[in-house]
Amino acid sequence: LQEILEGKGPILLHTERVLDTPEKEAIGWEDFLNMTIGQAVTWASQGIEPTKVPSELILSEPYVMGSHAVCAGAWTSGPKDVALGEYSWGYNRMTTIQGLFGAGDTVGGSAHKFSSGSYTEGRLAAKAAVAFVQDHPDPPTVSETAIAKFRSTVYAPMERYEAKKGNVTTGTVSPDYLFPDQGLNRLEKIMDEYAGGVSANYTTNEHLLTRALEHLRRLRVDLGSMAAKDLHQLQRVWELDHRLWTAEAVVRHTLFRKETRWPGYYYRADYPHVDDQNWHCFVNSVYEPASGEWKIFTRPYRALF
Ligand SMILES: Cc1cc2nc3c(=O)[nH]c(=O)nc-3n(C[C@H](O)[C@H](O)[C@H](O)COP(=O)(O)OP(=O)(O)OC[C@H]3O[C@@H](n4cnc5c(N)ncnc54)[C@H](O)[C@@H]3O)c2cc1C
Repeated sequence: LQEILEGKGPILLHTERVLDTPEKEAIGWEDFLNMTIGQAVTWASQGIEPTKVPSELILSEPYVMGSHAVCAGAWTSGPKDVALGEYSWGYNRMTTIQGLFGAGDTVGGSAHKFSSGSYTEGRLAAKAAVAFVQDHPDPPTVSETAIAKFRSTVYAPMERYEAKKGNVTTGTVSPDYLFPDQGLNRLEKIMDEYAGGVSANYTTNEHLLTRALEHLRRLRVDLGSMAAKDLHQLQRVWELDHRLWTAEAVVRHTLFRKETRWPGYYYRADYPHVDDQNWHCFVNSVYEPASGEWKIFTRPYRALF
C-alpha cells in the first residue's frame, strides 16, 4: 500500500520464478483454483501464463467477513461445555434470535476460521439446528394478516414499477423510483470513499464515518422508492436492503472502536494503531426496530486456553 502511495507501482507477483517445474505448476493451479479462483480468472482474462510472466498484484477491497481476519458477523451462542458464562445461552451456534443459526462468514467472534473452520462450524450449527427442530416440533404460528403485510412489503417494488414505468427523465433515471443497480452503485461509492475503501487507501476517520452515516441514512430513505421489473430485480432490491444494514453496522462499529484493530484491512487515521490496553475486546451492537436506535457496547475477550 505504501509503495503504491509513493508512486512505485505496479507490484508484481513473480509466479514464473517459483512455478519452475511441472509438479510445482500443477500444485500452483490446484491451489489457486481451490482458494482464489478470482486469480485464475484474472490470468485468463489478461492472457497471462503464470509460468512465463509475472502478474500484477492488485490491492482489492477489504473483506468484511466473520471468518477471515476481521471478526465481523452475528453473535452466536457457544457450546455449553466450553463457552464461559454469558457466552452460552442456548443451542450451539444459535444467534440471539431464537431458532436462527449461523456459521462461517456470517458469524463473528473468531477471526481465523477460514474455509475448513467455516465448514466445520457449519456442521456444528446444522446439528444444533436439527436438535432445535426436534425439541420444538410444532410449527410457529403466524397470522394471515402478518403474512399478507409481509407479502405486500416484499412485492411493493414490482407494484411501484408497474404504476410508474415510463415516467423517466432520461434512460433509466426516474423521479419516482430507483433500480437496485443504481442503489448498489451509490452504496458502494459511499462505503469506498467514506468507510475506508480502496480509493481512500483503506483509510477513514471519525468525520468521514459520521458523514458516511448521513449518506447511508439518505439512501435508506430512498430505498422506500425501489422498483423492480421482474423477480430477479426484486431479489436484487432485497439484497441491497440487507447490504445497507450490513454497511451501516460496519460503519457504526468502525466508528465506535477507537483504534485500528486490523491494520492492512482498514486504518482509522485518527487512531492508527492497535490499542490492546483499551480495545482488546469485542464490539457488539443491537438495532432496536421500535425506536430505530443502535446500541453499541463492548464484550470482554476471554481466553479459553
Ligand atoms: C479472496 C479470498 C481469499 C481467501 N483465501 C482463503 C484461503 O486461502 N484459505 C482459506 O481457508 N480461506 C480463505 N478465504 C476465506 C474462505 O473463502 C471463507 O471463509 C469461506 O468460504 C466461508 O465459507 P461460508 O460457507 O461461511 O461462506 P460462503 O463460502 O461465502 O458461502 C455462502 C453461500 O451462500 C450463498 N448465498 C448467499 N445468499 C444466499 C441466499 N439468499 N440464498 C441462497 N444462497 C445464498 C452464496 O452464494 C454462497 O455460495 C478467502 C476468502 C476470500 C474472499
